[in-house]
Amino acid sequence: MPHRFALVTGASSGIGEAFARALPADTGLLITARDAEALTRLQHELSRPGRAVEVLAADLATDDGRAALADKARTLDIDLLINNAGVGAFGAVLENTEEAERQTVELNVTAVAVLTRALLPAMIDRAARDNRRAGLILVSSTTAFQPVPYLATYSATKAFILSYGEALATELRRKPVDVLVLCPGATRTRFGERSGFAVGSLPGAADPDDVARDGLAALGRRTVHVSGFGTRQLLRPFLWSRHAATGGLGALLSAFDRGNRFGRPPRL
Ligand code: NAP
Repeated sequence: MPHRFALVTGASSGIGEAFARALPADTGLLITARDAEALTRLQHELSRPGRAVEVLAADLATDDGRAALADKARTLDIDLLINNAGVGAFGAVLENTEEAERQTVELNVTAVAVLTRALLPAMIDRAARDNRRAGLILVSSTTAFQPVPYLATYSATKAFILSYGEALATELRRKPVDVLVLCPGATRTRFGERSGFAVGSLPGAADPDDVARDGLAALGRRTVHVSGFGTRQLLRPFLWSRHAATGGLGALLSAFDRGNRFGRPPRL
């Protein structure tokens, strides 16, 4: 069943723009990024009678931008959240600017955790009420699977997204929501030009439209999807052992959580 209203972050270019294009024509859209002109162009292209395409220009590396987006999203019946916006600076940590390092963590980690926590409860409640399923896509990367020198902060933020998404999927396994961590490999987008690493020109770099379509097709079928057949096969045993360990820990800690719920001190 197609989702009713999707929020796509980082929709002004690359994989986020491709997600907005790939969603079914009857799914309403809230598209966001900083580049208001690019968003408005996409809004005009994708709007049609009966389909709302809303735009919000916001800097998600800031508290104000994240709050403005959460406020706007709460006025719409979002049932698919695609946390896609991401940046990374290529270079040794001590050679990158402090600002670039801060932006990478603010956007790739804080924005993902804040928006997910802000929007998911109402998405799940609406899905339960309407006997539907909500969706959450978190765009990570194949750099999440190992530390990557010269992309140290970036790869660590992508490891956060992978770990967070897998754990969240386990916590929510009985709720009407599908969680997907999408791990693209090198993809031909503006990411390379922005990061200072020509990742999109690597041999075999994927087309962003294929990555987005692949991600939407995987939602509801698995929790972690690695784009690219070869890399997926290579990582399969690792993903299975991770999945089993996460499931086991989830079962153990959910029992602990239930036992501990009463009389627990206020949380931070
Ligand atoms: P991209 O073309 O550079 O797109 C990045 C998007 O993030 C843009 O829409 C950009 O829009 C938005 N963005 C950047 N800073 C922002 C901020 N402070 N606030 C709000 N939005 C911001 O790169 P992409 O490859 O499509 O990247 C999308 C996701 O895929 C990222 O999470 C990236 O880590 C992941 N990924 C990419 C590759 C690859 O090889 N390309 C591989 C694996 C994973 P504005 O500049 O208009 O704000």
